[in-house]
Amino acid sequence: MTHGLQGECMKTVVIASNNAHKVSEIADALNFEGWEFKTLQQAGIESDPEENAQTFLENARIKARAAHEAWGGAVLADDSGLEVDALGGNPGVFSARYAGLHGDDEANNAKLLAELSDVPQSSRTARFVCTLVFIDEDGSETTARGTVEGIIGFEARGTEGFGYDPLFIPDVLGGVKTLAEVTQQEKSAVSHRGNALRELKKKLLNA
Ligand code: IMP
Repeated sequence: MTHGLQGECMKTVVIASNNAHKVSEIADALNFEGWEFKTLQQAGIESDPEENAQTFLENARIKARAAHEAWGGAVLADDSGLEVDALGGNPGVFSARYAGLHGDDEANNAKLLAELSDVPQSSRTARFVCTLVFIDEDGSETTARGTVEGIIGFEARGTEGFGYDPLFIPDVLGGVKTLAEVTQQEKSAVSHRGNALRELKKKLLNA
């Protein structure tokens, strides 16, 4: 069913991901009345297209289009990753499979620390990037992008979040804690995904 953003009928938006952390961050931020979110799994959809593009935006679009085709209704895809300046922007679009196996956070973090072992604090600058592609029931597309600047620490710290969060120390929040040492709410207030979601929300409300 197609419906407006506030105060109308129920709208189910499928998030083109099975990453529970991403889904929770997205559902918290896009709290439009009448909207509910489902993962691919919850919607009973199998969609795992090859993310072979060179940019976050194109990869998000690949995931969104495939999910939209399978679901037929509104979908939201997120493609995100970490750009480390001392590594020429890597792991970038390869963030999820930096150490080889898709989604092996521990191995990815170990590889990142090893690659940066000789790099001093002043050169460990990095940013998280998040791109979102929302496709509505009628096929119309809205995109948004968010970043957060920071540095890569020398050791993993914290148990919250996922991925590279234990290594990433954002410049905001005092420049001391990693994103795995703050609550999801504190993370979302400053994170790449939080920033992208706020931009997307604004665009959808103004559409
Ligand atoms: P995607 O699922 O293809 O977008 O891959 C994103 C990858 O980037 C994840 O597997 C993580 O390694 C990393 N990443 C993206 N967003 C975050 C975040 O909020 N915290 C930590 N790592 C992230």
